[in-house]
Amino acid sequence: MLWLRNLFWLLLIAAGALILRAAFGGNAGWIGFSAGLLFLLVLHLRGLSRLLAWTADMRQAPPAATGSWEEALVRLHRHQRKQERDIAEARETVQSWLAASQALPDGVVTLTEDFHIDWCNREARRNLGIRLPADRGQNLLNLVRSPEFVRYAQQSEWPEPRVVPSPAHSDRQLMVQFIDYGRRQRLLVARDVTQIERLETTRRDFVANVSHELRTPLTVLMGFLETIRDAPPGAIAPEQQGQYFEMMHEQSQRMQSLVADLLTLSTLESSRVHEHPSAAGMVAIIDTVRQQATALSGGQHTLQWNITPGLDVHGTATELASAVSNLVVNAVRYTPAGGTVSVTWCLGEEGSPTLTVTDTGIGVEAKHLPRLTERFYRVDRSRSRASGGTGLGLAIVKHVAMRHDAELGIASEPGRGSTFTLVFAPERVAGAVKPGAEKTALAAELDR
Ligand code: ADP
Repeated sequence: MLWLRNLFWLLLIAAGALILRAAFGGNAGWIGFSAGLLFLLVLHLRGLSRLLAWTADMRQAPPAATGSWEEALVRLHRHQRKQERDIAEARETVQSWLAASQALPDGVVTLTEDFHIDWCNREARRNLGIRLPADRGQNLLNLVRSPEFVRYAQQSEWPEPRVVPSPAHSDRQLMVQFIDYGRRQRLLVARDVTQIERLETTRRDFVANVSHELRTPLTVLMGFLETIRDAPPGAIAPEQQGQYFEMMHEQSQRMQSLVADLLTLSTLESSRVHEHPSAAGMVAIIDTVRQQATALSGGQHTLQWNITPGLDVHGTATELASAVSNLVVNAVRYTPAGGTVSVTWCLGEEGSPTLTVTDTGIGVEAKHLPRLTERFYRVDRSRSRASGGTGLGLAIVKHVAMRHDAELGIASEPGRGSTFTLVFAPERVAGAVKPGAEKTALAAELDR
């Protein structure tokens, strides 16, 4: 105890002074007492000055031999060390929170109650275009000025998020929401929903397209049915009735093809890709498509087939059959009578199995080429419909290609014809290809 120790020293000095007084008289006693007190004072001053010197760098161990101050120093030192540890821990926690908020996929901005920016994470800098430290203290509404955003910010509360255009990238959409927290503080969370919005638009367009595609043949069917139902007996001549039935059959077939293509697309989208597919039997697939094309052409085209025997790919036969059929049937349908369609199945450059379907048909203008594989995209809507097209064929081919590590290539020139290629990855090769077989036209057929 500090005071007990000091009391002990005072009593000792007083006892010494009393002894001196008894031995040498009153003055000596007082002189001894004063000298004792002076010594005690010097000792304390020395301790104090060491304490002062130590406070300049309190991370050092406290100075020893400071007498009564020593205990205080040790306690101060312990307290200071604990504080240092607490600060380090707090700093680490803050750092890890900061790192976590930087890693968030959403933009986060902390604001004052009146929308002045305090801090923001990396994503907010990217999608809201905030620059720190330059924009710290700026009013957010001066930086993000889109009317939708300003209107949303000016609401009294924000129970629902709102989709607004990104101020930093005009082609992106953000879902934003304000959240009040702490004491008069506000959080802005901004999530990039461009992809989701695009998907939503695609879904809406798709539903609208399907409804539209089905409505047309249904309207025609209904029209004929009503005419037949409402006509008095015998009012429709048998041959006219026959024509009606023929047209109704055509429209029903159109709906059937549409539904079949939609089902194929949905199966392609929802089913898992085989991890270890077996050989698909491409030569047999092409042979079946050859019969289909021959029937469709009805002898009006020259059909040429260059097939490498034994060349096959690992894949799903039904999917590949659908892709090959779509490409070849398109070539026949978009080639006027007298034209040529040639199909080649061979090992291309770098050992890639390649299917090439070339026609001398109507061709496609360059501006349409990037959109041909979109669902329901047609260069000439009425021509496609008239020839029984659903507008889904190339979308199916593209899907099948993706599921088989293949690239779909399209080259076309209006009035001169088109070439569609499916180039499979060399790893997909299956079956035994005879050396040099790919160079020979093994099956050439003229169907005229
Ligand atoms: P569709 O059922 O209308 O043929 P696709 O998806 O198969 O639908 O093809 C999309 C569009 O691409 C067609 O409407 C047509 O305009 C064009 N097209 C496809 N293949 C050919 C081709 N071989 N020659 C010319 N145009 C083609």
